[in-house]
Amino acid sequence: MIRIAELKLPLAAVPYHPENHTEFPPTEKLTQLASERLGIPAQAIASLHVHKRSFDARKSALLAVYIVDVTLADEALHAQLLAKFADDSHVNPTPDMAWKPAGQAPADLAERPVVVGFGPCGIFAALVLAQMGFKPIVLERGKQVRERTKDTWGLWRKRELTPESNVQFGEGGAGTFSDGKLYSQIKDPRHLGRKVMTEFVEHGAPPEILYAAHPHIGTFKLVKVVEGIREEIIRLGGEIRFEQRVTDVVIDAAPHGEDVQRQLTALQVLNQATGESYTLPARHAVMALGHSSRDTFAMFYERGVAMEAKPFSVGFRIEHPQSVIDRARWGKDAGHPLLGAADYKLVHHAKNGRAVYSFCMCPGGTVVAATSEPERVVTNGMSQYSRAERNANAGMVCAITPEDYPQDAESFAWAFGGKTYGVEKLPKGEHHPLSGIVLQRQLESRAYALGGRNYSAPGQLVGDFVAGNPSTEFGAVQPSYKPGISLGDLHQALPAYAIEAMREALPAFGKKIRGYDMADAVLTGVETRTSSPVKIGRGADFQSDNTRGLYPAGEGASYAGGILSAGVDGIKVGEAVACDILGLPVPS
Ligand code: FAD
Repeated sequence: MIRIAELKLPLAAVPYHPENHTEFPPTEKLTQLASERLGIPAQAIASLHVHKRSFDARKSALLAVYIVDVTLADEALHAQLLAKFADDSHVNPTPDMAWKPAGQAPADLAERPVVVGFGPCGIFAALVLAQMGFKPIVLERGKQVRERTKDTWGLWRKRELTPESNVQFGEGGAGTFSDGKLYSQIKDPRHLGRKVMTEFVEHGAPPEILYAAHPHIGTFKLVKVVEGIREEIIRLGGEIRFEQRVTDVVIDAAPHGEDVQRQLTALQVLNQATGESYTLPARHAVMALGHSSRDTFAMFYERGVAMEAKPFSVGFRIEHPQSVIDRARWGKDAGHPLLGAADYKLVHHAKNGRAVYSFCMCPGGTVVAATSEPERVVTNGMSQYSRAERNANAGMVCAITPEDYPQDAESFAWAFGGKTYGVEKLPKGEHHPLSGIVLQRQLESRAYALGGRNYSAPGQLVGDFVAGNPSTEFGAVQPSYKPGISLGDLHQALPAYAIEAMREALPAFGKKIRGYDMADAVLTGVETRTSSPVKIGRGADFQSDNTRGLYPAGEGASYAGGILSAGVDGIKVGEAVACDILGLPVPS
């Protein structure tokens, strides 16, 4: 097949059934365009398949832009055309995007690899291991997704947090209650993202996610997909144990080649349903923990697993009427059902050297309470597949680095309940690996206090925030955050440099998206879990820098940021585990 990019059609040429929200590929028109592009008659094209479709709103008439794969009737012509267009970056051979198992477990293999965490990374690590004939054991601290949904709503509706079952913890991981955006900017030469998307579709996601340039799936559909993949792993011989928290790792000295190295030999697991603890032998464990497993990070630190503090970002959620964003993005075509609710991406480099940017934008969605720890407030965003809620929301966050994190023993003792984690022993100039968590906890506790100590979040209107006045009542924008917002002054909620940079950024963003700095837009605090505050290093074999058998993976270890990239990392790490057991090279 030949892949042709940049075939453009006016929006009106895209067939669409508004009644059932179904889009159809304009195959005839695209075949005509493809034949003109290749300089061959349309009849020479035996079939055409749409690979990607995006929209270009930069011209006065909005365009649908396609990447298509064509099969030619005559094989000889195929080679001729590829030679003719060898220097044309928009015409290429269609790559083989199918995932191929790296190996196959022998039927009598006694070892069962373990996967800790059943978010997107753990799900895909377990799935590919199961597909290669391994029978992974998955340990997930949270509950099955349906029970977890009830617990999560408990915080939003009744101000009751369940620390082991919430937005961050439980089947499906952190992105289960989300907008379900499924795109990423990672380099993906092996097309592993396609494997993630294909599995999602096979388990109930809408097929359009395979061709839409900015696909999303929304919360309810994602829940069904996660359940479907769980069933598939079990059907293939895997086992998934919920409410099982890994509380410790057993690491022994073991010979490796000519060296003696630290080798993982077992996991200590707490069955949270019964309160009993047990030891699970494990020489290969994927640690797909997510960014909120602070107790597990601290345990790793105690056990000497190599890790370091890393940069992340802190800020607020900002809410506007979705119509403001649609008008700015789509102009006169705003409201066209094919376009849906518009998204945006913004960045501003402030005079004080800080970058402020939009994060995890949720068109037509709601702001959600996303803490996993009692007496702390954290915001994030989610939406349904329809993206039909009245407001657009996004994180508006300021990048910070370990230089900004507390390093004093007092802060550590407070953050870790009386334990200082050796902070006083650090050589000068080095940052404590857990110091980002200390800052997150400080900000989340402050937000809880500013919100009134009942899980309401502190909030302020954009006009008041820029002018430096506390807010007292909402204007045209009714915020969506549940259980509620306590209006006031957000200047105390973040470090001064972040507030300064955000006050500068808002009017600058208003120049890029008309209305972005509208006085009545609502800021809700605080957004602190933008990415992991730690990096747990690993080598080319995907094993921890200093502990064999321990595979740091996904967002928590800083190898992913988002559902798709976490799924891709899960595939890579699952393959690496299989290859180590089988004595094969890791696929590259
Ligand atoms: P996680 O999904 O965090 O999964 C980690 C799992 O490990 C959890 O289920 C946890 O319970 C379990 N665990 C942790 N410690 C232990 C332990 N000691 N023992 C046993 N189990 C343990 N990304 C997008 O791409 N698009 C979006 O639209 C989007 N929206 C989001 C909305 C919200 C509200 C949130 C919170 C996140 C959103 N994200 C989104 C981010 C996305 O969810 C994460 O990037 C992704 O889930 C990371 O996957 P992961 O598997 O690495 O970790």
